[in-house]
Amino acid sequence: MSLSRRDFFKRAGSAGVGVAVGAATLGLERVEAAATTLKIKEAKVHTSVCPYCSVGCTHLVYSTGNSITDIRGHPDTPHTLGKLCPKGVATLGLERVEAAATTLRIKEAKVHTGVCPYCSVGCNQLVYSKGDSIIDIEGHPDTPHTLGKLCPKGAATIQLSNNPLRPTKALYRAPGSEKWEEKPIEWMYDEIAKRYYDTREKYFIEREKDKEGKDVVVNRLEAIASLGSACIDNEECYLLTKFNRAFGIVYHEHQARV
Ligand code: SF4
Repeated sequence: MSLSRRDFFKRAGSAGVGVAVGAATLGLERVEAAATTLKIKEAKVHTSVCPYCSVGCTHLVYSTGNSITDIRGHPDTPHTLGKLCPKGVATLGLERVEAAATTLRIKEAKVHTGVCPYCSVGCNQLVYSKGDSIIDIEGHPDTPHTLGKLCPKGAATIQLSNNPLRPTKALYRAPGSEKWEEKPIEWMYDEIAKRYYDTREKYFIEREKDKEGKDVVVNRLEAIASLGSACIDNEECYLLTKFNRAFGIVYHEHQARV
């Protein structure tokens, strides 16, 4: 076959493109690895500990100038091998989340990270709001065990907020009564506070005898128990613990240990 100089360059060029595409097709892992390296290439890396729970998974915190640019699990951590739970993944803040807000529906919305309130798996969520309203809730794509998917209950979370059937009044059944009465939410809060107060006044144990019969201060309340939920976040857990301890409550348990 005779080949002009021009044909030769045309065919050589096509072959080159084919080889390049083929090389990329080989596996995206290499491409991803290269992108990862670039993102944190100029950053300083510091080791730290996730602040959320008592497991204390080790973090690698990448910073450039005064900004934290990335937070990841430390691959040398024996019990995680570098993986983080949804709360640990959300430590970085909203940068990754904002990057995910690409569709038109949520373009003008503010995005907040949250945790699905249904079960103890605690899948991470992206909660989008406009004004005073939540307009969308989706799975967080950085969640290692879901990669942004939610189960049917999690996917329906928005209905907890935007739902005409949502109860706005408390239902109260008086002692001995056979019927429920509707009460305003404020009445319910006052009633709970009053019962807490009365129970503490009645049952608070200030002093008791120890084994040797010596009178000691115990400041204990055994008539109220507190059971936390896996859906309570770090700050809420802190406040609840302080509140319980201030009351003298000793039966203080968490759902995650049940
Ligand atoms: S999305 Fe489903 S699995 Fe995840 S926390 Fe919510 S209810 Fe549990």
